[in-house]
Amino acid sequence: MTIQWFPGHMAKAKRQVTEKLKLIDVVIELLDARLPYSSQNPMMDELVKDKPRLVLLNKEDLADQSITKEWLRFFEQKEFKALAVDAQSGKGISAIPPACQELASHIIRKMKDKGMKPRPIRALIVGIPNVGKSSLINRLAKRHVAKTGDRPGVTKAQQWIKTGGGLELLDTPGILWPKFDDQLVGFKLAASGAIRDEILPKDEVALFAVDFLRRAYPQRLEERYALTELGDGETVQLMEEIGRKRGCLKGGGSVDFERTSDLILNDLRSGKFGPVSFETPQDFETE
Ligand code: GDP
Repeated sequence: MTIQWFPGHMAKAKRQVTEKLKLIDVVIELLDARLPYSSQNPMMDELVKDKPRLVLLNKEDLADQSITKEWLRFFEQKEFKALAVDAQSGKGISAIPPACQELASHIIRKMKDKGMKPRPIRALIVGIPNVGKSSLINRLAKRHVAKTGDRPGVTKAQQWIKTGGGLELLDTPGILWPKFDDQLVGFKLAASGAIRDEILPKDEVALFAVDFLRRAYPQRLEERYALTELGDGETVQLMEEIGRKRGCLKGGGSVDFERTSDLILNDLRSGKFGPVSFETPQDFETE
């Protein structure tokens, strides 16, 4: 379920995250490894300020490994600690508690200097809907933690979850909105399945997807739909060819673009083109 983000919801979500930030030592910012820039909340820096931050690139199983490595380097150059993880299978998860301990080493040192036994480091997971926050909490908790629902207004008593390794988590994640102001970001979010299909016209999202695949992964596009040559014609013609090849036709024999769009988007989201990354750090070098 994806939230409809109205200004009132955004204000409330921001307030809730700000309140939760007061309780914790480290922020765990969850991004989609396929689109780390586009899956980031636009207010993140402003909200987190100087709090130590661990960047996690989740769904790394769906992303292009070599591009994920570039993103990890990109975040490290910005002096963020960053890890690639797969919250579904659990890959990379064991590196999270030690990374949080390292980020909060000054807090641990202070407690030791005062002669106290260090308490576990406290963290909050923050991210846009569908990025994998609940999956990550369940993985770290090693059990199923009930989801409060993707409604920023829903509140309940905060609980701490022990994960082992000297880390505790708030049981409810911080849910924030994605970047909406940039059309390209919207198309990437929609093509990857991060936002609901009703938000942007599906045929336009599919057209974007084919256009992206023909530029970034031409061979995989050719192979998947047995296309002989991508050529340099209009992308809509390619879509038509795909529709014809796959028998997505209307009664009169013309191509059914609705069905063709569904086919392409389902293939993309379920990994039929192999691991795919929608953006690289170089895409943003000029910004
Ligand atoms: P939340 O809305 O941020 O809490 O996201 P969820 O934890 O509910 O996950 C959204 C969807 O992404 C679910 O279908 C998960 O199974 C899936 N998911 C979460 N993490 C991963 C991952 O690392 N890899 C893959 N392939 N899917 C994931």
